[in-house]
Amino acid sequence: MKTELPNGVMLNAYPDSIDGNLAGTVRLLQRPELADVFSLFYILPTVFNSDLDRGFSVIDYDLNAALVSPADLQALDDLGILLKFDLVLNHLSVGSPQFQDMVTKGERSEFTDFFIDWNAFWDGEGELHPDGYVVPSPGHLAKLFMRKPGLPILRVRFPDGSDRFYWNTFYQQVDVVDGKHTYLGQMDLNAKSDKVWDFYSETLAKLSAFGARILRLDAFAYLHKEVGMANFFNKPGTWEYLDRLRVMAEDYNLILLPEIHSEYGTAIHEELSDRGYPVYDFFFPGLVIDALDSANNEHLLRWIDEILDRNIKTVNMLGCHDGIPVIDLRGNPAAGGTDGLLSNDRIDEIIERLLERGGRVKNLYGPDGTKISYYQVNATFFSALGESESRLRLARAIQLFMPGTPQIWYLDLFAGTNDDEAADRGGSGGHKEINRTNLNADDVDAGLTRKVVLDQLEMLRLRNTSDAFDGELDVIATASDRLALRWRNGETSAMLEADLATATFTITHVRAEQQTVLAYD
Ligand code: BGC
Repeated sequence: MKTELPNGVMLNAYPDSIDGNLAGTVRLLQRPELADVFSLFYILPTVFNSDLDRGFSVIDYDLNAALVSPADLQALDDLGILLKFDLVLNHLSVGSPQFQDMVTKGERSEFTDFFIDWNAFWDGEGELHPDGYVVPSPGHLAKLFMRKPGLPILRVRFPDGSDRFYWNTFYQQVDVVDGKHTYLGQMDLNAKSDKVWDFYSETLAKLSAFGARILRLDAFAYLHKEVGMANFFNKPGTWEYLDRLRVMAEDYNLILLPEIHSEYGTAIHEELSDRGYPVYDFFFPGLVIDALDSANNEHLLRWIDEILDRNIKTVNMLGCHDGIPVIDLRGNPAAGGTDGLLSNDRIDEIIERLLERGGRVKNLYGPDGTKISYYQVNATFFSALGESESRLRLARAIQLFMPGTPQIWYLDLFAGTNDDEAADRGGSGGHKEINRTNLNADDVDAGLTRKVVLDQLEMLRLRNTSDAFDGELDVIATASDRLALRWRNGETSAMLEADLATATFTITHVRAEQQTVLAYD
């Protein structure tokens, strides 16, 4: 059975993206301009106590009192808004009580196997480096998928003065102050420990009590680790973990939305969908850019057909807190890479154009530290579209007519441009800051007078309130530089007719014989 997602429109922001704290977003949502626009809100994980990676290094899942209060969550509930939160199941912060217990009590800690002792994991499977950590044998190393140069480890000092190395797939920050090392890091959890599963269970209960309806399973594919296997989406281990979580989540009526970036050709999205999970549509952002830049509907329509044929339940987006995931469109590298949604050349051309429009790239690395590929392009979606208001408006319209639950990055709603200063300030890990600018009350006031913002709100309201979108989608045949998508549910229908070359379009909505036409040119 497939999990049905709620069908309204979802806002996506940090708790402090708008006017300082979550109360700021609540005030925005209470304004008449925003009435009936959103039914869901994905609040990013600085909603909890956290340190690095703007929230994805969770200390504990209590509310971050500096930004959020229970009254804010109540106000969102009063507005009829359902919540989506992250379960960052692969890691926890160095600052978490569990990690701190381990490094203060050493062997006496009840959390000794909560995290992954790198040398113990690879015991007998590699060479000891003079600095004290095991370098796994080349056969093992070749299977590892790295998110940063060098081995994914953090050196940790124990009370007996010994240093140990812990698995740390994502970010870390080591500072030396007065000769003393201080460090932060997103420490990988050891899913072989029952204690970790007890912790997940407590966390589900907590998030459910905060009003969660959907849980995004952050970076879940890294959780399963086994000597001799990869560190990314091992099978069947990853499925077993997901299914175990799903059984736990059912007790709280929580929908699990696994987050994974992988090439289209590997068909992981199909497997997830066939097993009943909703899927993040990370293909749509690149396809809509391709459709608008080339005035050609072909590749986008192929993906829409596939979603419909396979009945894939998706959450889609233009921008989000991460970069634009263009390389997700590739074919399966292991099979020659020719079975992508776009050819590799076409993908490279998109990346080139986004870089010309001011985007930046983050790289991924091979086990020997060599760069293996671009990961995502960091840019606001508006800047990625050449800062053309009509193109942003059409991209939004297409998103809203796609099958799936539309998720709306607050900065796209306000047509935000690349924040180069913030990206520069962030240094080597700061590329994502280009698209995370916080808005103050004046920015919001000014935004709500702009046509590109008001037009989006009008379309979002229609998508959020019309039951046409609970019905069936027809893709109507057109010339390749046009697009016509029609939703029908009984007597209600909504039709988008667009000219991709000029980015002009109309939306025709019919309900109880009353026809409304919204024309955008
Ligand atoms: C999140 C990133 C985060 C990473 C580690 C991702 O998939 O979207 O923003 O850095 O997981 O938690």
